[in-house]
Amino acid sequence: MISHCPACLSETVAKCADIYDLPLILFPVDPGEDVPRKRLVVYRCHGCGHMCTPTPSLDVRRAIYEDLYRYYPFVGLEAMKSEYREPAEECIGQAIMRRSGRPPTLLEIGCSDSSQVQHAVDQGADCTILGPGAKPSVEVKAVNCYYGERSLDSRFDIISSRFCLEHVSDLDAFFVSASHNLTNSGSLFIQVPNVAAWEADDHVSIPFAHEHVHYFTRQSLLQLAQRHQFLPTIVSEPGAPSLFGLFTRTSITGSGSRDVRSQLERLRHVARALNMDHPGDITLYGAGLSAVYLVNCDELTLSTKARLTIVDDNPAVWGRVLPGHNTVIRAATTDILQRAAVVLVTANPQYHASIESRIKSLAPQAHVSTLSRLAVRGKELPEP
Ligand SMILES: [Zn+2]
Repeated sequence: MISHCPACLSETVAKCADIYDLPLILFPVDPGEDVPRKRLVVYRCHGCGHMCTPTPSLDVRRAIYEDLYRYYPFVGLEAMKSEYREPAEECIGQAIMRRSGRPPTLLEIGCSDSSQVQHAVDQGADCTILGPGAKPSVEVKAVNCYYGERSLDSRFDIISSRFCLEHVSDLDAFFVSASHNLTNSGSLFIQVPNVAAWEADDHVSIPFAHEHVHYFTRQSLLQLAQRHQFLPTIVSEPGAPSLFGLFTRTSITGSGSRDVRSQLERLRHVARALNMDHPGDITLYGAGLSAVYLVNCDELTLSTKARLTIVDDNPAVWGRVLPGHNTVIRAATTDILQRAAVVLVTANPQYHASIESRIKSLAPQAHVSTLSRLAVRGKELPEP
């Protein structure tokens, strides 16, 4: 069972395929080889189109990668196929050319064959490959392990991952490690199979296999990256044979990349704090979205709800109520503000300065908090 999309975090996820007894690998094997079979369930996100399977057990992963992968027929070939290789090399090449000064360092994740980074070596990059069985060459260093299996202390100017992320169960852990292993101005190149290209195909084909945990759409890859503060500087065309993007890290401010789940959790934290810490009246200042979400929050008890007064500076909303609440919205008055155990400013931050000065003039003694700095009687509440 999968409760939310690992790419965009939407909770609108539903089972889209249930295949009984699918062999653990789907490529040709020797006659007589008895390939184990297992049920494969695939879920699809209605938000971004991402598809994924529950994390395979360690036994299944071992059987695939430590045993059956000896039959893998595309060693070095899949990533080397020109329609996949050329756009990747062009993107990575651009990332190399953007660097100035010392030769840029590059880490290729999920790669055991040093010839796959020859294009970057030729452009002057100092290259390291990382993957099980990775072998160094004269020009290329190698780390023989799965990414994340042991900590890498080095930081790289460019990290590249080609046809690897679809095998990785924990996408968030991958991005956290990549962020850690990338210099501040570094570039991250990700390439995965393109589900859209498969869907547009008239040929009867099914993309699911036990070894692939994730099936990315352009939207799911971009939303996943954006959640980890990576914005694309180059991204593949929607119908391209493979899906890829060159990403650089962005600052969280103003990028619209705030994590919705953590925002909802913070809202619940505020509701719990109001339940616990306020014997008196609570005045919400600002009848906007944050106030509506707060009065409808499942954590807010009925008795806390009954103690809420809602004020707003906009005469158009006076006399109305917030959906889900029955207290009439009023203008702020000295009496309301002074009586409140806390005045919680729920208006958007651009109104805070004018609201604060209005409160100061009407009720200088009022206890004022905001949603970002929720303090009750001078004691700031910890973050959830
Ligand atoms: Zn999604």
